[in-house]
Parts: sequence; C-alpha cells; structure tokens
Amino acid sequence: MGEFDLIERFFKRPARRAVLGVGDDCALLQPTAGMQLAVSSDMLVEGRHFFADVDPAALGHKALAVNLSDLAACGATPLAFTLALALPRVDEAWLQGFSTGLLALADAHGCELVGGDTTQGPLNICITVFGEVPRGQALLRSGAQPGDDIYVSGTLGDARLALEALRGRVQLPDGELARARARLERPEPRVALGQALRGIASSAIDISDGLAGDLGHILKASGVGAALNTDAALGLMGAGGKKLEYVLSGGDDYELAFTAPQSARQAVDAAGAQAGTPVTRIGQIQQQPGLRLADAQGRPVEGNFRSFDHFA
Ligand code: ADP
Ligand code: MG
Repeated sequence: MGEFDLIERFFKRPARRAVLGVGDDCALLQPTAGMQLAVSSDMLVEGRHFFADVDPAALGHKALAVNLSDLAACGATPLAFTLALALPRVDEAWLQGFSTGLLALADAHGCELVGGDTTQGPLNICITVFGEVPRGQALLRSGAQPGDDIYVSGTLGDARLALEALRGRVQLPDGELARARARLERPEPRVALGQALRGIASSAIDISDGLAGDLGHILKASGVGAALNTDAALGLMGAGGKKLEYVLSGGDDYELAFTAPQSARQAVDAAGAQAGTPVTRIGQIQQQPGLRLADAQGRPVEGNFRSFDHFA
C-alpha cells in the first residue's frame, strides 16, 4: 500500500463543515463571522509520550484529545484538525485501530480531519487543531486576580498512578488499574466546560504537566501567587494512592485549572452542571507571588512539586 492509498483509505473522509478537506494542497476553513480562530499543536513521540505496544485506538484517541484539551482551555469550539504522521512501516491493522480511535473522538466533538502529511520514519504523531471563539472571549492564562477562587475539573493523579503501575512500581487491584489506565490512555478533553466558562472564568489552562506547574503558568502570566488547600486537592484523586505528589505533579490529567471571582461561584457551579463535569474549588489567588500549600486546618504543607519538563 502506497502513501496515497493509505491516506485515502484511513484518513480521507468527505468534508462536512470545512469548505475543502483532504486531497488538495490546502484545506479551506470558513470561520463563523465575528469569531477568532484558536490554533494549537501537540506532538506525541513513541517512548516519550506513549509505550510502543499501546492500543492503537487509544493512541489515536489520545493524540487528538490532548489537542482538544488546549482548545478547551481557551474556551474554543473545535472546528478541524490536521495530522502529520511519521510511520516506521505500513501496518494496516495498526492504522485501522489508530484511525478508528482518532476519528471517533473527532466525530464526538464535530472536529474534522482536513489534511496532514504522511512520511516514513520513527513513529511520531503531530496534530494541529483549529477552533473558534467569539472575538475577545478566549480564556487566557493572564487574567487571574487576587481574591479569585481556583478550581479544577474532574479528578487528578490517576494517569500518573496508572503509569507507575504499568512500570511495575505500584501494585493495583485489576479493577483499579483498569480505571486508572483509562484516565491515562483515554482522557476526555473538557471542551464543553471550557465553552461554558467563557465570560465567567478569569483565567484557564489545561493540566498536562501537573497541577502545580500548570497553575504556576497562570500565576506567572497573571503576576500573582496562590494558596492551595492540599486536603481539597487530595480529594480530587480516586480511591487508591491518594498521593499529593501524583495530584500536584503527576501530569497527563487533561483537566482544566481555572480561576473565577468569588462573586461567580454560582455561575461556575452552573457551568459545571451544564457541561456535566464536576468542578472543585481548591484554593485562592493572592497578591504575593509563589504557590503556598496548606491543609484544611491552615497548617503549612511542605513540598517541592516540580512539573514535567522535557529538557530539565
Ligand atoms: P502535498 O505534497 O501537496 O503537501 P501530500 O501529498 O502530502 O500533499 O498530501 C495529499 C493530501 O493528503 C493533502 O490534502 C494532505 O493534506 C492530505 N494528507 C496527507 N497526509 C495526511 C494524513 N495523515 N491525514 C490526513 N490528510 C493527509
Ligand atoms: Mg502541495
């Protein structure tokens, strides 16, 4: 099977929303009038971001999920994506699984595959997503204000728990491993929540490298600091483990961390309910720079929770 047959068979589908999809030199997109384009890329490299033997359908899902998570963090509505793929060889069963997992998530979010590039090489998946957001309403990292509440969606730490179990460093009962593994391999990007938070959240980010580090990006961009309630944060982890280290710096969670003024508490709860996504208040933005940890009784908690950095 050649390059073009491969694209035709696994990745080419009739364009629905896009003006022009796969098959020409460029795809053509027509954003809605009054909307701004939101664009983001994420690359997944074998050995770095996933194990070589991971289920290809789960990998297809995750490759798009991590990109949709960036759109979610901006409050954008997904439109389309491109896929740049390096493959060591043409493995039809693998491609079938990969494209099925990828396109199922794409369909679930109305995000169409409109183009890409295919080449031979070590397995590498790079996706660029395009979304749209009403002009001036994108959620940014830079809007947090002293006094704002800090929230996290869903749960944290289980992806890291699964990774430790798969590496043989932690023992988990089967049911628990399956649950944690689903969080690692099939994250559900919080797209509906991101959109529901437009006009409510003062800042937002998606948690890919760990809560402490990613919240740190909000603090830096906003020129503020924060106090986190470690008991509330620990409550974000499912049964088993409950390790603050996994919650604060586990990574691969693909939840949203966001801030909102205290006057918006009801609106935040309503946004969570509307999106069907639990949101938990875990701390407060403060003027003094830095991240301070304390338990529910206000006793300081020590910890140097570094987030993941490819070059550190
Ligand atoms: P060009 O040489 O003009 O860059 P290609 O020959 O690489 O185009 O690709 C032909 C068409 O197939 C283009 O529309 C391109 O966007 C699309 N395409 C290539 N690889 C993929 C892929 N992995 N997924 C989706 N579309 C792809
Ligand atoms: Mg061309």
